Amino acid sequence: MIMNLDQLKDSLVGSVHNDSEFLSHYSADKSYLDPVLPSLVIVPECEADIEYLLAYANANNQPVTVRGGGSGKSGGAIPELNGIVVSFEKMTAISTVDIANRCVVVQPGAILDDIKHAVEEQGLWYPIDPSSSDWCTIGGNVAENAGGANALKYGVTGDYILAVSGFFGNGKPFSFGRKCHKDVAGYDIKSLLIGSEGTLGIITSITLKLIPKPRFSQSFWCSFSSLQAICQFFQTLSVSSYQLSAAECIQPACLAAVASYLDEDISFLNGPALLCRYESDSQEGLDQFRDVLLEQCNVFDASCHMESDDLYWLVRRSISDALGDRYRHKFSEDITVPSGAVKDYLDYIPTLAIKGTVIVCYGHLGDGNIHTNILNESLSEEAWGVAKRSMIDQIMAYAVELGGTLTGEHGIGLTKKDYMDSYFSEYELAILKGVKRVFDPNTILNPSKLF
Ligand SMILES: Cc1cc2nc3c(=O)[nH]c(=O)nc-3n(C[C@H](O)[C@H](O)[C@H](O)COP(=O)(O)OP(=O)(O)OC[C@H]3O[C@@H](n4cnc5c(N)ncnc54)[C@H](O)[C@@H]3O)c2cc1C
Repeated sequence: MIMNLDQLKDSLVGSVHNDSEFLSHYSADKSYLDPVLPSLVIVPECEADIEYLLAYANANNQPVTVRGGGSGKSGGAIPELNGIVVSFEKMTAISTVDIANRCVVVQPGAILDDIKHAVEEQGLWYPIDPSSSDWCTIGGNVAENAGGANALKYGVTGDYILAVSGFFGNGKPFSFGRKCHKDVAGYDIKSLLIGSEGTLGIITSITLKLIPKPRFSQSFWCSFSSLQAICQFFQTLSVSSYQLSAAECIQPACLAAVASYLDEDISFLNGPALLCRYESDSQEGLDQFRDVLLEQCNVFDASCHMESDDLYWLVRRSISDALGDRYRHKFSEDITVPSGAVKDYLDYIPTLAIKGTVIVCYGHLGDGNIHTNILNESLSEEAWGVAKRSMIDQIMAYAVELGGTLTGEHGIGLTKKDYMDSYFSEYELAILKGVKRVFDPNTILNPSKLF
């Protein structure tokens, strides 16, 4: 039984840190919430380290927050008061791709882009593409059920998880799923762990399903007179026989921010724009789609640019940071509404901006996951706090009224937990809390998050 810190240190292969300079690097994520200094950071190097750490945390009733890349936007990786942070920076292994079973086994700290490159070298593809792919970890992706622009055609992280293993908050090991592409044995606990935001278990190994990479791909930057025209254009394309893999809307305010943020000439890109991508297994298929797209652009009086694929996506990936750079404060929501309600959402939400602030919507138009950025232009710190809260309340309420949800990608964490009772009934919330008690009876894992 591990009761004290010396016993824990003696048991671990990995390291334990408690000097404040080191701890400060683990105190925040990208939620723009205030940092919290943990009391310890543990860097495990093997699965047994997690077992020891959980024994220590349960015995001492000390909260534990798992940390991947710290790119989360809902505060999930922010430490608890007097809490322990477990950082997976040394558990980053990526197995050889299992070609016969079309899968790869990875440790939670592996950076997403490293996994994507490793499997592409072996001729297969992992399609999930969050804009943070160069620094988020696969463990964080599973815990948040991350998606990206590709979700329109390929789905989200959870659609590619064949198996997960790790330890529940009570310290018991689990292993759900196999290398099988179909598995309906028993309750689907694997899906319960996906998106559980570090509140049920610590995930130590993940088996990812891989697919063939499409052979031909092209992106198109189409500029329109308004976001409403973009919505109509997208609806028209949606009922054609062509399935876009990505359909992102980009506002002029995003372009203005990116233009001063990036060291690139993007003056030839205009907005409001629909950035879309089409993939095909033949050049002929791609050519056919391009003809249809250009024909529709003519109908909608839109212009289409298609020569700078990489630059379009660099611009798209840079919007979040560029807006953060351009405005005094930025707060980002990621509600999702049903596709048919996107137009109403985009019409109404910017009108909620309080004087001295702006609301800029951009992102995954195709699946209704609209990144809604509340930006402070000129309010004082105090006025901003009040205005921000009022605007978020209204955004959440309107999304739910339209039949939407509080979050499509970033999770509930700390930032949205106050809105859970507008989305779930009292009884449904009690079920969620009951599930947590089963796997984490001492409420060790991320106790202040989710509800
Ligand atoms: C510029 C930018 C762009 C982004 N774009 C997207 C996007 O397109 N799509 C999208 O979905 N998200 C996006 N995000 C949000 C973020 O990158 C994702 O939520 C990502 O999955 C978080 O991964 P991480 O490794 O950084 O996790 P962290 O931020 O470290 O942690 C996130 C949560 O996961 C938990 N966790 C981490 N590892 C484990 C584990 N091994 N076991 C159990 N729990 C764990 C943590 O406790 C925490 O609750 C973006 C963020 C930024 C800053």
